[in-house]
Amino acid sequence: MDELRRKLLQGAAAGAVTGASSFIPMFSAVAQTATATGTSVIVIGAGVAGLAAARRLTREGFAVTVLEGRNRIGGRVWTDVTDGVPMDVGAGWIHGPDGGNPIATLAAEAKARTFITNDDSITVTGVSGNEVTESTFGAGRKKFEASLAAVATRMKRAIPDESLATALGIVDPTVLTDPLSLFHLSYDLEFDSGGWLETLSARNYSDDSKYPGKDVILPNGYKAIPELLAKGIDIRLNTQVTAISHSDTGVVVTAGGMTFNSDYCIETLPLGVHKANRVRISPPLSAEKKASINVLGMGQINKVFMIFDKAFWPTDTQYFGWQSPVRGQFNYFMNYRTFSDFNCLVTFGLGQQGAYLESLNEAQLIQEITPVLRTVFGSSATAPRRAIRTGWNSDPFSLGAYSFAAVNSSSQDHVTLAKPSGSRLLHAGEHTHELYRATVHGAFLTGEREARRIIAARSNGTNRPKRR
Ligand SMILES: Cc1cc2nc3c(=O)[nH]c(=O)nc-3n(C[C@H](O)[C@H](O)[C@H](O)COP(=O)(O)OP(=O)(O)OC[C@H]3O[C@@H](n4cnc5c(N)ncnc54)[C@H](O)[C@@H]3O)c2cc1C
Repeated sequence: MDELRRKLLQGAAAGAVTGASSFIPMFSAVAQTATATGTSVIVIGAGVAGLAAARRLTREGFAVTVLEGRNRIGGRVWTDVTDGVPMDVGAGWIHGPDGGNPIATLAAEAKARTFITNDDSITVTGVSGNEVTESTFGAGRKKFEASLAAVATRMKRAIPDESLATALGIVDPTVLTDPLSLFHLSYDLEFDSGGWLETLSARNYSDDSKYPGKDVILPNGYKAIPELLAKGIDIRLNTQVTAISHSDTGVVVTAGGMTFNSDYCIETLPLGVHKANRVRISPPLSAEKKASINVLGMGQINKVFMIFDKAFWPTDTQYFGWQSPVRGQFNYFMNYRTFSDFNCLVTFGLGQQGAYLESLNEAQLIQEITPVLRTVFGSSATAPRRAIRTGWNSDPFSLGAYSFAAVNSSSQDHVTLAKPSGSRLLHAGEHTHELYRATVHGAFLTGEREARRIIAARSNGTNRPKRR
């Protein structure tokens, strides 16, 4: 995994991607290079949120430096290439590319090839390899939808929040044992939300919003988006931030054995990094913010890319489902052959199974997955030549996949996390978007939002960012 490769380099060789060096040696109180606006901003994190903020502010003439802990940009949007196969280790789809989704606009600006994935092109196999007919599949889906409707009705009552598993167990316990319902609960719901049934809030698990349109992928790699955003921006790679100190007059950031002084700081540390208190913030985050960090969930989704010498599966079917006896394990396969010549299938560890996958090395993974492939695709299925898995939960720069509504949380927690701390420290990242959490477009919009807050503070002459 690319994100596991990290090395802290210090000093000027720390890996500035572009632009002149503006780092300041330890204990220096020298201000950053003045620009047209005379205002400097440090952005922590070169994921989509950080890059969006940096791009907007750089265009407005601010002196912007991005500090990134990994040896690459992109954060949870990155494309690894093994055997020439572009593998999107983080985000894969532009969800809802219509209706003004900013990532679709950026994909067009980057001239990235897009491909509409067809959710209806799916065949599903039963636990032991039996084919699930369309009508059985449809009936299972209806049962799953009816159980969620019953949960929604139940949660309208004035009762305390509870987990989705608890609520489903009350409204229709059969969905928790019926293999087809479990398949839907896992691949539709746990995948989409990032959480698992036992921790998802029955009241608020789906209180977010979506853009319209059929999901698209970028066959040549999603990294086209962060690469476009990063153009012309001063980015210091291998520069892990360990402390942020902020006051009414400015911010001091400690990273990679150096200190960086600036007028403002936008931090885009993932929710998992905040949960683990990886960066010391002083004065500390408010009690309200800490409560929101604790109560929100961080999902554990992981992907497995399997590369084969030859395709043994129907090459024109978009997805293959399997009613895995272990909920969330290898129950969904995406077929590369529908959009490329690569003999590659992607499968997933969803919910709690996402964490389990990280305990397996490649040989163990191949050993576990090959019998599943034979069950799903028949005796012609071969073992993959390579099985490359992601490791988002143990990656110290993400510590999880994406945020979700855990029991007792609500969209208000995302609003809380979006508020500035004092007048100089601002917060962005997917977990700070009330409506589009857990997505690339959500992350992008939060970066733009915080950049606009600083621009507005400059325009109104107060230098104090508005809280809403
Ligand atoms: C497996 C997976 C599948 C997904 N699928 C989709 C999808 O199909 N569609 C979709 O829209 N979204 C998807 N997402 C979610 C999407 O990728 C994220 O919501 C989005 O990329 C988050 O962007 P961000 O800028 O908020 O955070 P990040 O991209 O995580 O950026 C934060 C940056 O901060 C850096 N950082 C962390 N700690 C430090 C430190 N101490 N010092 C310096 N730098 C630090 C990190 O290295 C990182 O670059 C998926 C995510 C995962 C993991």
